[in-house]
Amino acid sequence: MEMKKLALVMATIAALGLAGCNDGDDGVAGTPGADGANGNNGTDGRDFTAVNQWYLAGQSTVAKAAESTISDPAGKAKNVILFVGDGMGVSTLTAARIFEGQQQGKSGEENRLSFETFPYSGLVKTYSSNQQTPDSAPTMSAIVTGAKTKDGMLSITDDAVRGDCASGQGHEMVSALALAEMAGMSTGVVSTARLTHATPAATYAHSVERNWEADSNMPAAAITAGCTDIASQLIDFPYGDGIEVALGGGRTYFMPNTENDPEYGSAGRRNDGRDLTSEWTSKHAGSSYVWNLDQFMSVDLATTKHLLGLFENSHMQYEADRSDDSAGEPSLAQMTSRALDMLKQNDKGYFLMVEGGRIDHAHHAGNAARALEDTVALSEAVRVAMEKAGPDTLILVTADHSHVFTIAGYPVRGNPILGLVRSVDENGEAAKTLSVDANGMPYTTLGYANGPGFGFGSSPVNMASARPDLNLYDVTDVDYRQEATVPLGSETHAGEDVAVYAMGPGAQLVTGSVEQNMLFHVMNYAADLEARAEANQP
Ligand SMILES: [Zn+2]
Repeated sequence: MEMKKLALVMATIAALGLAGCNDGDDGVAGTPGADGANGNNGTDGRDFTAVNQWYLAGQSTVAKAAESTISDPAGKAKNVILFVGDGMGVSTLTAARIFEGQQQGKSGEENRLSFETFPYSGLVKTYSSNQQTPDSAPTMSAIVTGAKTKDGMLSITDDAVRGDCASGQGHEMVSALALAEMAGMSTGVVSTARLTHATPAATYAHSVERNWEADSNMPAAAITAGCTDIASQLIDFPYGDGIEVALGGGRTYFMPNTENDPEYGSAGRRNDGRDLTSEWTSKHAGSSYVWNLDQFMSVDLATTKHLLGLFENSHMQYEADRSDDSAGEPSLAQMTSRALDMLKQNDKGYFLMVEGGRIDHAHHAGNAARALEDTVALSEAVRVAMEKAGPDTLILVTADHSHVFTIAGYPVRGNPILGLVRSVDENGEAAKTLSVDANGMPYTTLGYANGPGFGFGSSPVNMASARPDLNLYDVTDVDYRQEATVPLGSETHAGEDVAVYAMGPGAQLVTGSVEQNMLFHVMNYAADLEARAEANQP
């Protein structure tokens, strides 16, 4: 079977090679054309390989793809790293790529985010079992358990009812992270959101309600019925020897209400009196708990076997604001780097999930600048993983869902991505003046179909029916909120497909348009998680 597949691949490459030698118009070897280009012309003298940078770049991409082998047996991947940009739709990728390129002094469109160089990619259908446009709970549950479920529920099957504790009991789905622990691998969860927020939570917790982050967020009836809060499930994680690395925000969800936050003085959110951070250090030998940048960077990774880092009372800062944080916070790339240094020490391999959690929040606020900066920060974290992870590691980069975020108008190449639209004139040269709407008013390239809309600060400006005169504002300011067509307090998710990028053993399985829950099966096949977990049971 293996040989047969390989033979087919060889035949395909040979056929491509043959076509490459020809001119492409009549299927026989070409002779030099009238324009003097090198031998790639048909007998009719027309040159089908006329050379410019676009053509050559496309040609070399295909040549590289043709060199790659496409067959990996199950279990070829020792390690798996799953990156999730929360709310990182395709328009966010395009805008962030341009944003990053322009920060480097280039026109931007030609730039590529780190993971856009991965050899395989595809599109992912994100609907949940009961909504066309999903939230992060069922989408991440699908990615890490292999089955779609209802909105609001974390790694519980679709036959449960949201918020009904009893309906979820006995319907828990095993996650890829749990399988990895059962297999004796090391595991990690890293996010810039609260560790108890839907995306990271789906990797380690089961809940019929994503908002049950601390016990104080739960109805008494659910507690009486035997359901537990999400923060406690991270500490009480029953598989293997527990999660090795957990880094993110959400500190007060782990603290009793009798204690005050060390950075802000706000009270803990736990009514049950548990101090989960001290439980973490007493439960695991060789463990530590840190809550600021200095402590985090001082952790001795050679001796620390279990590391819990909680860097904010709620979500961590946006990348755009991180340098202003009073206690100091690590970047997503720094968290990824140190997590990998710890996890790599296990000969049996590791599973690491890294979430850029706040791309989503900036979009909900209608604030493109922060969403793009956080997307670039995720790209940097992936770059670290590409450098640190060996060829035995499957890396997936995807999003849970999209946002109603658009890149519109006909701006000239290199126009500032956060700026007002300036188009080209009738000769295709940069226009002298800004493009304007039907009322003669300029507009931004980036916008939202709904949300709080135009303004600065936290309170939206009531636009009534007229558009604001954007000539009067700095639309590239980090606090600027792009206009929105339908006024809503919070911008919404979008229902179209998101992208997935893959490299490493098993990456070839990521292709075409797939259901979101298929991504679990790619990871499970590539790293043989179920079989390894089974084989490791006493
Ligand atoms: Zn472990």
